[in-house]
Amino acid sequence: MAPYITELILSISNNMNIFFPLLAAASLQAADLVPTNLRVEYLENPLAVSTTTPRFSWQLQAVDAEAKNLSQTAYEIQVASSEDDLEKANLWASGKTPSDQTNQITYSGDTLDSRDAAVWRVRSWDQNDKPSAWSEPASFTIGLLKPEDWKADWIASAENPVHETEENVQNFKGTPKGVLKLTPAKHFRKEFAAAKKPVQALLHATSLGVHTVELNGEPVGDWFLAPGWTSYHNRLHYLTYDVTSSIAQGDNVLGATLADGWYAGYVAYGLLVEVSGLEDGVDGRWYYGKTPALKLQLEIQYDDGSSEIVATDESWKTSFGPWKEADILMGESYDAREEQDGWNQTGFDDSKWAAAVKHEGHQGKLEPHPGVPVRVIEEIKPVSVREHQPGVFIFDLGQNISGIARLKAKGKAGDKVRLRFAEMLHSDGRLSTENLRCARSIDTYTLKGDPEGETWSPSFTYHGFQFVEVTGYPGTPTVDDITGLVIHSDTPMVGTFECSDPMLNRLHKNIHWTQRANFFEMPTDCPQRDERMGWTGDAQIYVKAATYNADIASFYVKWLRDLNDDQWDFGPYPNFAPSPFIREGMHFAAAWGDAGIICPWTIWQVYGDTEVIAEHWDKMEHFMDFRAKRDPKMMGTTEGDSAFGDWLALYEPKTPIEFIDLAYHAYTADLMAEMATALGKSERATHYEQQSEALTASWQELHLNEDGTLKQPNQSTYAMALFFKLIPDDLKQQSADQLAQLIRDNGNKMTTGFLGTRPLLPVLSAHGHHELAGILMQQKEYPSWGYEVENGATTIWERWNSFVKGKGVHNPSMNSFSHYAFGAVTEWMFGELGGIDLLSPGYDVLRIAPRPTGSLTHCKVATSNRHGDVTSEWKIDGTQFTSKISIPINSTAVVTLPLQGKDGESKQLGSGTYEFSGELKK
Ligand code: BGC
Repeated sequence: MAPYITELILSISNNMNIFFPLLAAASLQAADLVPTNLRVEYLENPLAVSTTTPRFSWQLQAVDAEAKNLSQTAYEIQVASSEDDLEKANLWASGKTPSDQTNQITYSGDTLDSRDAAVWRVRSWDQNDKPSAWSEPASFTIGLLKPEDWKADWIASAENPVHETEENVQNFKGTPKGVLKLTPAKHFRKEFAAAKKPVQALLHATSLGVHTVELNGEPVGDWFLAPGWTSYHNRLHYLTYDVTSSIAQGDNVLGATLADGWYAGYVAYGLLVEVSGLEDGVDGRWYYGKTPALKLQLEIQYDDGSSEIVATDESWKTSFGPWKEADILMGESYDAREEQDGWNQTGFDDSKWAAAVKHEGHQGKLEPHPGVPVRVIEEIKPVSVREHQPGVFIFDLGQNISGIARLKAKGKAGDKVRLRFAEMLHSDGRLSTENLRCARSIDTYTLKGDPEGETWSPSFTYHGFQFVEVTGYPGTPTVDDITGLVIHSDTPMVGTFECSDPMLNRLHKNIHWTQRANFFEMPTDCPQRDERMGWTGDAQIYVKAATYNADIASFYVKWLRDLNDDQWDFGPYPNFAPSPFIREGMHFAAAWGDAGIICPWTIWQVYGDTEVIAEHWDKMEHFMDFRAKRDPKMMGTTEGDSAFGDWLALYEPKTPIEFIDLAYHAYTADLMAEMATALGKSERATHYEQQSEALTASWQELHLNEDGTLKQPNQSTYAMALFFKLIPDDLKQQSADQLAQLIRDNGNKMTTGFLGTRPLLPVLSAHGHHELAGILMQQKEYPSWGYEVENGATTIWERWNSFVKGKGVHNPSMNSFSHYAFGAVTEWMFGELGGIDLLSPGYDVLRIAPRPTGSLTHCKVATSNRHGDVTSEWKIDGTQFTSKISIPINSTAVVTLPLQGKDGESKQLGSGTYEFSGELKK
């Protein structure tokens, strides 16, 4: 039968009238569009933006969900100092501006200054030049931009007593590292009077260290480990909260609790690798400073135009509270008997508290946090609890997470409950904590003896865990007495994956959980052991994958500043950022430092954000200069390289560093040329194009044989070479065939490490070996993704063989069960199996080209880009292939379906939901 194709108009699945009743009614005359989801600098109604020329964005929704080919042809933005003034647009009236842009539109009205608040709205003209109604108003406020805007002093406690721990931690050889030096968290408080109820009150809060704030006893905001980690020498963030409704006429009190955090506490693997901080002989901590400090500024405005500021200074009082220890890596020790009732309420007698002292504070830039909060996202009830040994209870959450545990207990004052955390168990059921290395990860709670029972969770630490061991519990706990609190940066999760292979469905869940566990203020390598560092190699391998699963734009805007702030003076980007210390000679590693180019390029590509590349352009050039000078002969070099190579690969001999260095150099030069073009820097574009060509030519000379084979043949060298477009067109197929042969010779199994795995499946699919890519994807034998799932993984492992059922944990000295790098295969799952990828920056033009493979009969991927939601779903029934796709408004898609004959030809479609079916292409 001749192939046929039908396009079905789908019924309205989400009834738009529920959400936009008035607009739907008005749609007869008005445009087909409704602007929604208004954002300023990626954030919803931000209370402190760091620029006086912020960028606006919005998305467009269809009034009629069945409508197709919708786009914007013009927009108009109005900005006013209050909602009442919107009609007049007293700050900026853009006027009707012919443009299809809905993102990255820079404010260009009256000059704004610190504290200026504005309301804005937008309307869009559709493809028929019909205007939409105005959007709902949104708002933004300019932050405190100038040093003189800050009246608050930095304050600290004069005392910072060091408490030495009872429990030792061990280094990776199992040798004790000696006692830990931990310090208590401190309370600060200040009472103040408000003349009357304010019309607005904004609290700006920051610390060197991590803090919580309370106003009249109520927590302010829900940011965990506020204000996060930056390259403190260069930059610190503050958080701004609207506390208007919490301020009472008359007496009020601000309270805060401060712990060492990343500033003064144990961070990264400093203890393990024995790098001293500011005190000689003390390894692992005090890299930025020894005493945490606090800075709060509450700005209250009254209806008569008057205002007042309550700010930290020496009149604040401070005291130790119940925290004996509060450290991110080591955990907390909390004695509830030492809680001071009412300390955060007015009328508390603080006469015995000490006066706060001034602290030298922070010297770098102080800016509003540009990203999303780290917060408790979800609660998990354990699936089981069992008494492993008398008095030793082990709870299983059923899922490996990043976060903390909340404890419920009823007992005598002084009863001490100890919580230990682990990702895995030994075969005899004990916790397996060896892989935590020097992260002690123990929380201890001493009961106050409340007859009603007590509930507690820590405030200044987090762990990576699935199992919680509870000892010292008064009585026998049940599954209701421990709750897992999942904590991470609240990046909106936008990606779902579902197909006919349950293994792949679980795999994608594992990838999701691993991304969540590691997008924790920065992209970390792992959430459990003594690292939790922003390893740059891992970040560049995974960044594109991450964008399918979540909206990471503002999260990455934040981290790219950390990365650029910690660029070494002579040009290399660091191996990890923030970079609190340097290990001897480890300034640079090929494929790690390259994150400084690859990550901004990816964020620009995916989110259409040219400002990111403009912001870091000079530093990127500095990096490229460093690289060019380091290797004038363009041969690739090991000079000064930290030699991580194709990390955790399984083959021998390893890919030489020179190969990786040169390949990445050529690739990044190519990306620089693209970015230079996007920024209108044509001379620089030519420079980098020529550089990339010369590097590629040299690479070919050194590494490529005339028949397309490589001189150092392994799966990773082929995958990198093809992915980085180092192989001339006429030899690509031969190279790809060689790669496929290597895989087949290895029993259809991978051998690749971090660097080779990311490009492996994409290049196979791009060069006629899609079926083989599918076989690798669905492989269940070691080493494979399926092998992890078969062995019970709930997150992505650091190593292909991190754990084997019946054999246990492999090499605990370096073995994380929550490492996202190998999850980079998301790119292939969404980009090839589902077929969604971008064809132009910001997904203005996307491609949808689903490609079934293997035994799969069904697959549905859904994600979201700056224009809205994209889905691609397909089913195979016998020889019949059905595809359902949706394309966001204001974008177009080049759609190519695996159908016979003409139906399989590419077509360009506008927005809307479509269904196609036909004879599956053989
Ligand atoms: C980290 C990695 C990182 C590597 C450098 C490890 O300890 O966990 O993911 O990239 O060091 O090779």
